[in-house]
Amino acid sequence: MATTIRRAAVLGAGLMGSQIAALLASCGLEVLLLDIVPDSLTPEEQRRGLTLSDPRVRSRLATQAVERLRRMKPPPLFTAEAADRITPGNLEDDLPRLREADWVLEAVVEDLGVKQDLWRRVAPHVQPGTVLSSNTSGLSIAAQAEALPAELRPHFLGTHFFNPPRYLKLLEVIPTPDTDPEVVSFVRSFATRVLGKGVVIARDTPNFIANRIGTYGLAVTLRAMARFGLGVDEVDAITGPAMGRPKSATFRTLDLVGLDVFAHVARNTRARVADPAERDALELPPYIEEMLRRGWTGDKAGQGFFKKV
Ligand code: NAD
Repeated sequence: MATTIRRAAVLGAGLMGSQIAALLASCGLEVLLLDIVPDSLTPEEQRRGLTLSDPRVRSRLATQAVERLRRMKPPPLFTAEAADRITPGNLEDDLPRLREADWVLEAVVEDLGVKQDLWRRVAPHVQPGTVLSSNTSGLSIAAQAEALPAELRPHFLGTHFFNPPRYLKLLEVIPTPDTDPEVVSFVRSFATRVLGKGVVIARDTPNFIANRIGTYGLAVTLRAMARFGLGVDEVDAITGPAMGRPKSATFRTLDLVGLDVFAHVARNTRARVADPAERDALELPPYIEEMLRRGWTGDKAGQGFFKKV
């Protein structure tokens, strides 16, 4: 059992993975940040004569994520130097480096099959005793554990950070029946002492605690907006400053979270909850499906309910 965590690996260099890497690096950890290998070249890579086998292309997604972290406002890094503690790589060539990690955290796309496949590929490369965790918004932690060999399951649990992780204090820690209670207390204490989080231990139910309430609230608001003929600005005004929130509890939040991520979470939850009223509420209105078709996934696409300028 680890006594502290010095080196972490974050799998998935998207919105959350990159910002979690920034948080960990800002708290003094060395971080390996890995993402998938791109299957096509950018125009710039073509112009420079690079090929798909070039290491710079293979690790492009994580490299770009670190560059983005340096530019993001508000800053996800506590200091500019913290970015130097993040090493970008990819999920094919760099898996052997996971044996150096004390903690491997996944933050890849919200799809159970993808996460299980990833854990199967990761398992042969980690040392016994390495903490393994998922940042899923609400997929079953136990179902992910099934993809791991029995000897690694006592060290596997959910660690659900909230967006943006530098600023939001809550961390939900979700054990499975196989998680060693000592691992749970170690993660709770490390996250509190070193990462400055307020930890809540949650049961492995669909969407855990905060998102079960939050996703329902967002979905109900989306349908109510259409029913009452309200506009985006009106809803944001009502659910924002008037409710004591600095910006908005609805559309700006959806743009920040990502409409694709929200849709994954709403659909996954809808498939797993028993209450018909909750299932009805989680059905996405047609205009969300249309926005997804157009690729308007929020801030990360430059266009969601608002344009990102
Ligand atoms: P994102 O879309 O920004 O990033 C997902 C990453 O997964 C991308 O970098 C992508 O390249 C990678 N990926 C895609 N297919 C893959 C595959 N087959 N194998 C491995 N990696 C693959 O998403 P995100 O918002 O960072 O969400 C990541 C995780 O964190 C999800 O489980 C999500 O539910 C959870 N989460 C998101 C938020 C939020 O506000 N967005 C908050 C808390 C938790």
